[in-house]
Amino acid sequence: MSNNFKTLKSFPNLFEAELVKELLEENDFTVNILNEYTASNLPGVAGNDFMMIELQVLIEEFEGAQEFIDDIADAYIADRMLTEVGAKLDGHFLLTSGKHSDQYFEKIKIIQDPEKCSAICKALAERFADEDIDIVIGPAYGAIVLGFEVAKYLKKAFAFSQRNDGKMSFRSGFDLEPGMKALIIEDVTTTGGSIFEVIELLKEKQMHCVGVGLLVDRSNGTIDFGVPVEAMLTVDAKSWEADECPLCKQNIPLTKPGRSDK
Ligand SMILES: [Zn+2]
Repeated sequence: MSNNFKTLKSFPNLFEAELVKELLEENDFTVNILNEYTASNLPGVAGNDFMMIELQVLIEEFEGAQEFIDDIADAYIADRMLTEVGAKLDGHFLLTSGKHSDQYFEKIKIIQDPEKCSAICKALAERFADEDIDIVIGPAYGAIVLGFEVAKYLKKAFAFSQRNDGKMSFRSGFDLEPGMKALIIEDVTTTGGSIFEVIELLKEKQMHCVGVGLLVDRSNGTIDFGVPVEAMLTVDAKSWEADECPLCKQNIPLTKPGRSDK
């Protein structure tokens, strides 16, 4: 049925494939999804132990579609996933600083849905597939799961760090040696705080930081870690003093995150 179509990208789950299909269709590409079921019924399509969803586009649109998704698909998928699991909230929020914002990240929600969490970690791991890495480090707690997942996909060791009496340190028992090349993974960062602490910790241990992988960079890419950074989603976090908040002026109800009362 689909001789005029060419596979653009394969996905481990229908969720991601549907998202990219939607995105492409919104931008006037003609898309076809070839799922595991139809694939197994087509002659000449190799079977696979893994469920793989193939997203296809018209052959004449292939190059344009490829360029298009290379640029924005990851960020779009990350945005939609984080929104669907309830980690990225859009609205009108009172931050702990007392300022108001139109966006809030409920970080813990990222790990509440293991399948989506794993999928986004796989995409992040792919960004570092060509790097020379010995170990993946995640600062506790949020990045323990994320770092573990990234390490799993990269087939590297994993360790986590945690604060002891306020100082970032490795959990005892991990095999860590001077000279090891480490990739740091973090969930959401605004100022880079705990990442800078892990970079310092690596220096103390005479290990090398070779990169930083973020699910969400809320600094709009402005933090300089001195190493390559990859973020699945880059946002420009906006916040205002209460008396200057444009959302208050529009009478949009204010939400205090982390509480059921609003
Ligand atoms: Zn406000």
